[in-house]
Amino acid sequence: MLFTTDKQVIVPQCEGCSHVQVVGDQSFCDAYANPSAKWMLGACPLGTHVQRQNIDASKKVNPLKASKKASKGKG
Ligand code: SF4
Repeated sequence: MLFTTDKQVIVPQCEGCSHVQVVGDQSFCDAYANPSAKWMLGACPLGTHVQRQNIDASKKVNPLKASKKASKGKG
């Protein structure tokens, strides 16, 4: 079942996350009730073991500012 109020066991992608809580012989997530739903559309947003790519802000160029800068000859 996709949406439910009962806690679901973790999925294999959750292995290594610090949100995993082991209760008896089962593992649950302390952040989400349904971990599999968090992995349906990509990586879990709260996964502590997920490697995220940093977007380098210095490489973003506002085209309007770049145009003004180029027109002033500061290129
Ligand atoms: S936070 Fe995300 S990756 Fe971590 S256990 Fe919960 S569902 Fe899995």
